[in-house]
Amino acid sequence: MQISVHPVAPEQRRPRPADDQLVFGRIFSDHMFRMDYQEGAWQNPRVIPYGPLELDPAAMVLHYGQGIFEGLKAYRCADGRIHLFRPLKNMERFNRSVRRMCMPEVDAQLHLEAIEALVRLDVEWIPRSVGASLYIRPTMIASEPHLGVRPAAEYIHYIITGPVGAYYPEGFNPIKIYVSDQYVRAVRGGVGEAKTMANYAASLFAAELAKKKGYTQVLWLDAVERRYVEEVGTMNIFFRLKDELVTPPLSGSILPGVTRESVIDLAKHWGIAVNERPVTIDEVIDGIASGDLKEIFGTGTAAVISPVGEVFYKEKSYVVQDGSVGEWSRRFYDEIVGIQYGEKEDPFGWIHQVTL
Ligand SMILES: *Cc1c(COP(=O)(O)O)cnc(C)c1O
Repeated sequence: MQISVHPVAPEQRRPRPADDQLVFGRIFSDHMFRMDYQEGAWQNPRVIPYGPLELDPAAMVLHYGQGIFEGLKAYRCADGRIHLFRPLKNMERFNRSVRRMCMPEVDAQLHLEAIEALVRLDVEWIPRSVGASLYIRPTMIASEPHLGVRPAAEYIHYIITGPVGAYYPEGFNPIKIYVSDQYVRAVRGGVGEAKTMANYAASLFAAELAKKKGYTQVLWLDAVERRYVEEVGTMNIFFRLKDELVTPPLSGSILPGVTRESVIDLAKHWGIAVNERPVTIDEVIDGIASGDLKEIFGTGTAAVISPVGEVFYKEKSYVVQDGSVGEWSRRFYDEIVGIQYGEKEDPFGWIHQVTL
């Protein structure tokens, strides 16, 4: 399928805000990608001016939540090259989410071409300062107007992009997290491993509780025993226990992060022992007390690495080491960001350069 390109008129191009004015998720570039699934096939892939979607009020996504998304970034290197980081991982995960939600798959190569066409046309929207980037949000929604629970027969796949600022403009900042032992995010056998909209709606209540108590993110426990650590906010979670890197296994209720996989690959490459095994909250609290737990950090595309400085559990607060950024957190951050911006060697072939 050929992607048709319909650029906005030059006088309708909007100015891009200065890099230090960028707020995550508020500003969108001039163009979007869209294609429609009708009569059993994807039709009319096209790059068009950014603008509202017209949806029937009975569109199934608005009632039954049949919708999924992805998140990745385009990075501008000092020499002007544009990098994507392991984009096919996102395209594959998109299709895994799609299958779990009974939606029609999108050809991974076409999906990548769509992103490249979009990035090429809106290349001026990619910020120039290191740490800032162009966030890319592929989405699929059920658009068929129909009331009644079953998979829809019509869908829209669209991609929007927008410039985002550096996650740590004032330097690497450890976050405070709140262990939710009452509300859960996902249960094994449910949809926790899909990047589907319902998971984020399900997370809001606990996140608001945490915020009211002064905590930035929720540490999610497993839904059955409320004992095993699963994720932190919308990030995967890692622990440095003595000199081993430990992260919960992908058991079905955890989102398989691209950053998670990259941290595991890097650790192995560096000769760090990695253990994907269940971690109980008691082990975390005991480890903080004994000093065996040296670092906690979250991983995800938005922040790359998010060090955790404090954990709140059952009405008590525990400071991890002295609340400062750990050595491994910094090392993973520097390496991954260095590879993304072309400043460090890429021995894994993670970088996909966009042809401009
Ligand atoms: C997207 C996401 C992640 C991180 O995935 P990355 O591919 O590393 O960005 C982790 N947990 C949840 C719940 C997510 O939605």
